[in-house]
Amino acid sequence: AVRVGVLALQGDFREHARVLASLGAGVALVRRPEDLERIDGLVIPGGESSVMDKLAREFGLFEPLRQGIAEGMPVFGTCAGLIMLADRILDGIVGQQTLGGLDITVRRNAFGSQNQSFETDLQIPALGNEPVHAAFIRGPVVESVCERVTPLATLEDGRVVAVEQGALIATSFHPELTGEHRFHEYFLAKVRAGMSRTVRTGVAGTLE
Ligand code: GLN
Repeated sequence: AVRVGVLALQGDFREHARVLASLGAGVALVRRPEDLERIDGLVIPGGESSVMDKLAREFGLFEPLRQGIAEGMPVFGTCAGLIMLADRILDGIVGQQTLGGLDITVRRNAFGSQNQSFETDLQIPALGNEPVHAAFIRGPVVESVCERVTPLATLEDGRVVAVEQGALIATSFHPELTGEHRFHEYFLAKVRAGMSRTVRTGVAGTLE
């Protein structure tokens, strides 16, 4: 069976663990570098990216996570997790770093403060006809994508709020909080596809 790690330094990792378990995946909470050893994929939850960044460095996870991503480990990030996966960040706190992997520029807190949180329905063709109910909680927006990146979802005004690149997917919103399981299923399919690969070249992008 697949074993998915959930980065559990901070944020709504329990909600992700619950969804993954309900879909039949093995779940391992990741807090130390050793926890990365026997997982087939990783979820980076919502929370506060600047705190997650700081804790990842304190716990010695930052470099192992970067390396895992570079080696083609499938990763699904929501909200703060999307920020962690972005190569470039706008409106980060001073000194804030990201793991990177997605060739995008992300703007943190793009919709304003907590009380400007909102929910909306999105059409996401990759997940079928039924709209996705999406909750935005101080979410980021993807400001620019390079051609290697596939936008999966856009708001009515055209702003990109979900992306995919190789083994990575990320959303500005929180499927783990709204009973929406299709993103997790889509991700698990990627994880299974990754497990069936016999060769890992260690070079990101060459596997797809
Ligand atoms: N504003 C948070 C950040 O900068 C993200 C919020 C969230 O994950 N809901 O990381």
